[in-house]
Amino acid sequence: MEFQYHLPVNLIFGKGKASLIGEKTAEYGKKALIVTGGNSTRKSGLLNRTQSLLNQAGVTSYVFDEVTPNPMTTTVYQGAEITVKEGCDVVVAIGGGSSIDAGKAIAFQTVNGGDINDYIFGIKSSTKALPVIAVPTTCGTGSEGNGFAVLTNPETHDKKSLRCNAIVPACSIIDPELMMTMPKNVLVSVGFDALCHNIDAYISRVSQPLTDMMALYGASLAAENVLKLAENPADEIAWENLSLASTLGGMVINTAGVTALHGLEHPVSGLRDIVHGRGLASLAPVVFTRSIHGNPGKFAALSHAIGGKDENDFVAVLITLMEKLGVYAPLSSYGITKNDVDWLTDNALKISAAGIAWHPVVFTREEIRQIYLDALDSAI
Ligand SMILES: [Zn+2]
Repeated sequence: MEFQYHLPVNLIFGKGKASLIGEKTAEYGKKALIVTGGNSTRKSGLLNRTQSLLNQAGVTSYVFDEVTPNPMTTTVYQGAEITVKEGCDVVVAIGGGSSIDAGKAIAFQTVNGGDINDYIFGIKSSTKALPVIAVPTTCGTGSEGNGFAVLTNPETHDKKSLRCNAIVPACSIIDPELMMTMPKNVLVSVGFDALCHNIDAYISRVSQPLTDMMALYGASLAAENVLKLAENPADEIAWENLSLASTLGGMVINTAGVTALHGLEHPVSGLRDIVHGRGLASLAPVVFTRSIHGNPGKFAALSHAIGGKDENDFVAVLITLMEKLGVYAPLSSYGITKNDVDWLTDNALKISAAGIAWHPVVFTREEIRQIYLDALDSAI
């Protein structure tokens, strides 16, 4: 056995821990750029609370609330310009995965400048970024636990992550109480995403003992608790468990990567701005049906983890879960047509080459085309 595991992550987990935002930020800077989306953190009061906690800790702040779902590279440039102009030396990212990803990328862009696509596509690299304090309000992307920032280039529709340890948050405060206001339609899609990160990493060809342990536990926690919450959103223990599953999912993909499910989904939400978790659901039955023979032992373990018997019932158990969550619809219902399939296939091979190579079955171009075609209308 041989492996290297390096993930310099600093997690503070627990109900009520958001009260530490001010003092934790003060350890890293004097003026914070608060990065968030337009609405939800303002409505929930978290934005106000963050500003006053920073204030009490002697940290001044400037609010950048331009982040949209599927955050764009252009938004990152805008945020970085403001960070420089305002003289901010630390980024506090509050909100869903989009806000955390945008905050991490702004922290990177502020220090490194230039064309961020060069770093996304590995033409250039850097080990520097401003420190980031991440405070997630959804439990899905796990961005608080890794060095990824998924960004969409609005000109090319390429949706691909910037990946480096410099953007692993200096401190992530995971407070399950902040998740509890999530509406059910958001909960089911982010919860399903958390499950898929753990599945993707678990079946990866570059997985290793530490990621396997976390991913299998994360998959089991995600499946059980997203379902509990869809039925009873007042279940506090389930919120804790799903939050942990989400963070674990983020951590394992940092090391083991995502595989073909995420690799094929990113072109879909890059092209049509579809909710990521729902794009995953549209593709999952088709992708996994064609993957099980590549690693039956791992699919058997995953099946156990989500309530099934062995590799043969994995897809059926997953479909039952998706039906209970109401998260599934065929790709065509999101406006994807046959005419998009060649672009999706080419784009998957362009932006997700690693994820496709790490999948238990390495799909050919023609097989990828066929997966998209079958996911257009497949009834589950
Ligand atoms: Zn995802």
